[in-house]
Amino acid sequence: MAKFKTLDDLGDVAGKVALVRVDLNLPMKDGSATDVTRVEASMPTILELADAGAKVLLLAHFGRPKGQRHSTLSTSYVQGDVSRVLGREIMFISEVAGPVVEQSISILRNGDIGLLDNVRFWPGEEANDPEFAKGIAANADFYVNDAFSAAHRAHASTEGLAHLLPAYAGRAMEKELTALDKALGNPEQPVAAVVGGAKVSTKLAVLENLVGRVQHLIIGGGMANTFLAARGVDVGKSLCEHELTATANAIMDKADHAGCTVHLPYDVVVAKEFAANPPSLRTCNVHEVAADEMILDIGPQATEALADVLKTCRTLVWNGPLGAFETEPFDTATVALARTAAALTQDGSLVSVAGGGDTVAALNHAGVAKEFTYVSTAGGAFLEWMEGKELPGVAALTC
Ligand code: ADP
Ligand code: MG
Repeated sequence: MAKFKTLDDLGDVAGKVALVRVDLNLPMKDGSATDVTRVEASMPTILELADAGAKVLLLAHFGRPKGQRHSTLSTSYVQGDVSRVLGREIMFISEVAGPVVEQSISILRNGDIGLLDNVRFWPGEEANDPEFAKGIAANADFYVNDAFSAAHRAHASTEGLAHLLPAYAGRAMEKELTALDKALGNPEQPVAAVVGGAKVSTKLAVLENLVGRVQHLIIGGGMANTFLAARGVDVGKSLCEHELTATANAIMDKADHAGCTVHLPYDVVVAKEFAANPPSLRTCNVHEVAADEMILDIGPQATEALADVLKTCRTLVWNGPLGAFETEPFDTATVALARTAAALTQDGSLVSVAGGGDTVAALNHAGVAKEFTYVSTAGGAFLEWMEGKELPGVAALTC
């Protein structure tokens, strides 16, 4: 793993101004956050700096104001939630640069926390304008990035600032980078990857990257149908990207050459209509899917075989559910395999790292998210990492 500085590399920070990029893009309802996981994630970094006597300025984006002030997208809307989670009062500052910020800093005592307004109110943020970044940097002594979820964007607050101030990874960023490195950067072998979800087209780059890096590629979800179709299986009415069968074959060839075993289901759960516990529900071999049926989950035999694969592996990286898990009983395979992975992790035989919006929801549904080694809540950034891309926000932190 490329080296980066952490809070351990900071000297005495008492009285210094810390600019901390956090993720405050909270889901809101009726003026308050419905989920504060992102604030909780950065709490150790914020409190560690404040308790060491730094003046902490929180910097974040909130929604998509597209470079202008937007009355309902001010970070002042999350001030109450952030304050409650941190258990500290925080001062809202209606700018990110200039004299207002300077004056606010002079009011803050050592250990106090300020919240800057939505950095995306200024077009220089998404344009990664160095002049804009310089204005923000002018008021601070050092920069801490604790927002992995925004690290796939080369914006002023995620990338530009790291070149203008001494830059450090926050505790949440450090934890995420360490976990991701254990999963794909420098993993214990054999490595298994589970890739599921709706479509091959959204995860082509992920599959291409993984076949060269893992020993077992487990394909489930709607995208498995495209791979089955590529192998000549009639998948009936299933969700299937028939125009991508050649691509699916190319991925399987590439896997062959790389010594990666691709696992496709040989039994599946099908129904004629997509509804909870439909009357037409049945389990069959993949070669027995009728023209008016659709595959909505992988079957029990396939699930058991995959559990056996995981038992031979030391590392697992997982993105995408194996079936249409939001609707019963099409959550069965995902829940079962997630529980197997969690048990192996708890036994100490498997390092398990998972990510993706629906994947996190599925693991929570299975009740095992906390038993995985690491679950990333970063959507886009996690996928780009699985694609093997260098994330600009991470690259800028490396020394
Ligand atoms: P993530 O958000 O974790 O990256 P995706 O968005 O790629 O995952 O995919 C999740 C979606 O895939 C879920 O809404 C799920 O219902 C759907 N899905 C999984 N298997 C199937 C299937 N066999 N047929 C249709 N949809 C499926
Ligand atoms: Mg999704």
